[in-house]
Amino acid sequence: MENDMYDLVIVGGGPAGLSAGIYAMRAAMHTVLIEKGMPGGQIALTKDVENYPGIEEIGGFELCEKFLNHAKRYNLEIRENEVAQVEPGVDYHEVVLSDGTRLHAHSVILASGGSARKLGVPGEMEQYGKGVSYCATCDGFFFRGKIVVVVGGGDTALEDALYLSKICAKVYLVHRRDEFRGSRILQQRVFAEPRITLVLSSVLESIVADDQGVTGVKVKHVQTEETQDIATDGVFIFVGFLPNNALVPAGVKMNAAGYVVTDEKCETSLPGIFAVGDVRQKYANQIVLAAADGCVAALAAAHYVEMRKAQAARK
Ligand code: NAP
Repeated sequence: MENDMYDLVIVGGGPAGLSAGIYAMRAAMHTVLIEKGMPGGQIALTKDVENYPGIEEIGGFELCEKFLNHAKRYNLEIRENEVAQVEPGVDYHEVVLSDGTRLHAHSVILASGGSARKLGVPGEMEQYGKGVSYCATCDGFFFRGKIVVVVGGGDTALEDALYLSKICAKVYLVHRRDEFRGSRILQQRVFAEPRITLVLSSVLESIVADDQGVTGVKVKHVQTEETQDIATDGVFIFVGFLPNNALVPAGVKMNAAGYVVTDEKCETSLPGIFAVGDVRQKYANQIVLAAADGCVAALAAAHYVEMRKAQAARK
């Protein structure tokens, strides 16, 4: 059994998971990282990253390649597979893959990230991929020279409205309040961009389409309740995201919003099970914080595994 036993299984290959992998390998832990798609997580879909300390500006895809290459330098085992379930145990934990493989591990790091929150308006799901998008970097190109609507008021909405304003003829930025949650620097850039038209204190009521795809949106002012129709070719929705918590095992404490609650070592309420990055409850979701979580959790997991092995040796 011990030969089949991993010290650590990492679930997810974004910045948090890969950083955990780097630190785990440096701590000589027998580790495997499971990622269902291409490693990199959400940053692979991010255009520019300008706030990772020490790197003034870098493309999201390029930064994830750097994380990946760094992890590979330490020969981190990376398996492309989907995790079906994480089953906590007393002597060891089990990570079940979609092909039925059962991995045994002394410790598990959940690094499953988050995904785009949906607005839930009529037409959103029906027109997904036909004019509705959650990723400007992926789909912006298709709207070159066209009119688009961006929904949201956080950093993502502001950043991506700016990105789209460089490609599209006009960007309507629809936000439900009259002030933005996003950072000051991005707000200043948005206010200075003539191709962005602000539609504040307004919510999207529906997305209108014909056989070819999106043709417009219906927007309602939250105070006057007046509605207006905006003709548009595309709708980019950036209204936050939700933690990917489907693999969090029963017994692990989560908050009301579905984020995993941990201690300062990123350890969950179940010993030997850690959570890092966007699936973990914390003050902000940033790449640097995801990477920091990965470091903390791997160091704590190394300590935990060492302790478990010492206890077992004494038995
Ligand atoms: P966020 O900060 O949670 O902002 C979500 C935005 O969507 C808010 O403006 C919110 O409005 C709005 N919203 C939420 N639900 C809505 C609904 N049902 N209808 C209409 N509007 C709705 O999400 P985010 O912009 O994706 O950012 C997530 C995290 O990543 C943040 O910590 C952010 O700082 C970080 N981030 C950083 C960068 C960067 O620094 N370069 C880039 C992207 C993201 P209210 O404001 O009224 O609540």
